[in-house]
Amino acid sequence: MIVFDLICANRHTFEAWFKDSKAFDGLRRKGRVECPTCGDSKVEKALMAPNISTSKTQAQAAKESAMVAGAKQMLARMQKHVEENCEYVGPGFAEEARKIHYGETKKRDIYGEATKTEVVELSEEGVDFTAIPWTQPTDS
Ligand SMILES: [Zn+2]
Repeated sequence: MIVFDLICANRHTFEAWFKDSKAFDGLRRKGRVECPTCGDSKVEKALMAPNISTSKTQAQAAKESAMVAGAKQMLARMQKHVEENCEYVGPGFAEEARKIHYGETKKRDIYGEATKTEVVELSEEGVDFTAIPWTQPTDS
């Protein structure tokens, strides 16, 4: 058995039980589903808009938070890899990356902080680097 929220052409809403969704469609086509208020047989399944949007939002929110968690994990792994394999140059990143790019210092993998302006300048100069959002260890 299945319950449907139904609405008639006169916008009366009511609940009705059917064996299944097919049974409802069949009965409805034959005009056998009638509004208990006015007897109208032009009934439709009422869209429970607020409920639908709520459950959608919740599902979406769950999906999004899972995605965020996944992205955070990925970033944490990238960060760990960088920390283990690259030399930390701190806020002098842009300068050091430029030196490496122009062969003024030995070629090596570095990481550090760069301002937005520096990031733009570096990419304009064709310096090869990747910008990733960096999560700072939280001071407890
Ligand atoms: Zn009605």
